[in-house]
Amino acid sequence: MTRILVAGYQHETNTFAPSLADWAAFTRGDSFPEFTRGAAMVERLRGINIPVAGFLDAARSFGWECVPSCWAGAIPSSYVTKDAFERIAATICEDVKAACAQAGGLDAIYLDLHGAAVAEHAADSEGELLGRLRAIVGPKLPIVASLDLHANVTRRMLAEADAMVSYRTYPHVDMAETGARAAELLKRRLHAGRREPMHSRRVPYLIPLNAQSTWLQPAQGIYEELAALDRRYGTLLSFCPGFPASDFAECAPMVWGHGHDEPRTREAVEALYARAAEPTQWRQDILPARDAVARAMALAEHSDRPVVVADTQDNPGAGGDSNTTGMLHALLAQGAGRRYPGQVALGLMFDADAARTACDAGVGATLDLALGRAVPTFTGQPSDPPVQGRFTVRAVSNGRVTIKGPMMTGLSVALGPSACLEIDGVQIAVVSGKKQLMDRELLRMVGIQAEQQRIIVAKSSNHFRADFTPIASHVLVAKAAGPMAAEPSDLPWRHLPPEIRRAP
Ligand SMILES: [Zn+2]
Repeated sequence: MTRILVAGYQHETNTFAPSLADWAAFTRGDSFPEFTRGAAMVERLRGINIPVAGFLDAARSFGWECVPSCWAGAIPSSYVTKDAFERIAATICEDVKAACAQAGGLDAIYLDLHGAAVAEHAADSEGELLGRLRAIVGPKLPIVASLDLHANVTRRMLAEADAMVSYRTYPHVDMAETGARAAELLKRRLHAGRREPMHSRRVPYLIPLNAQSTWLQPAQGIYEELAALDRRYGTLLSFCPGFPASDFAECAPMVWGHGHDEPRTREAVEALYARAAEPTQWRQDILPARDAVARAMALAEHSDRPVVVADTQDNPGAGGDSNTTGMLHALLAQGAGRRYPGQVALGLMFDADAARTACDAGVGATLDLALGRAVPTFTGQPSDPPVQGRFTVRAVSNGRVTIKGPMMTGLSVALGPSACLEIDGVQIAVVSGKKQLMDRELLRMVGIQAEQQRIIVAKSSNHFRADFTPIASHVLVAKAAGPMAAEPSDLPWRHLPPEIRRAP
């Protein structure tokens, strides 16, 4: 029986963000399942829309035996600490050695990787992990990985792994599907008995996060082209627009693919590169906070569905702490809640003190609070001050909820004491755990019905689109002070070569 060791390491590192990903962050998981190991890992991860679950299902259908090692994911933030990386890498390496020594040995390794994890001591931490595994198993044993669409794919990763494949959607609704595609790639690799030809091309500039959504052009058309090329050439192509806030030498988009023969693989990759690398198509329209609120209020006047505004620079899915107040100040200054009382909502605001105080006080209580934080940002200036004022507790919750929208469907999250606080007609979903507002259930748990709002401010860059676009009349993107630069060229890069730093 074919025996495959299965492990996962997921982190998206915004090296400009305020908080580190330490071992505690991996044991909590927050946006992800918590650290899990051995047989329990399979039970915990099955049925969730994440790559490893899709791989495990496909492996079962192929009759493979999976040897679960560990799965470690932490919410996007600044560097992975040396301690956290070394614990995770050591666990996987030890499990690989043990599996190789067992009767039956090991036939391959599958890794569920993000691809944009920067550790304190290893800038290309996935390349480092792959390199250590390669050193243990030697050149012949296949290692295959799936990657996030935001992976910053390095030369070392491409050299150490036999094959890699990335998501094709943003919001990432095809995570499990990508795991299954990795299983398909591994099956091809095992069948061929050697590495398939691979060709890659790096795109020489950064693509802003907000411009990458596959719900919009140009990305939608590029991924359609990718699928068409795969059909025509028999390849498995990937295009990662990358995560443009990881300050290391190889932060950049990448196009690559695996195929049956070298010339056709090269031709397919070059065709996709030509389509993806045209720079002017990636320019974007982002509004300052004040203008975004004014525009949302004007649009809401004539809309019977919510206007959704992305507070992209505080996206906790990109290293923000989900606690800045620029958008809330702008809503209050322009009287959005007085214009539409109880129909303006903002979330998720990560403020454990406020959430706890609200839960203790109970529904109906009024509280004098300072909500949110001024956090360090990439400009060198802190973000806006907390919102000081009198809030009314509209609802409280234990913060336990199951995701129902298309992203991470089925994932249970526990955000701790949570509440809906209202000030001047604006409702704020306040939580004790960091989580990107990617699903309407995260508002519903504190009594906010997204469908009934006029304006929703979502602390998210693109993932909100999967569950919110279907109910939205308009989607705007706002740029309030926060840790994640909407324009990569705004960041104070140090390690990335200057020619890559420029905007498209
Ligand atoms: Zn991603």
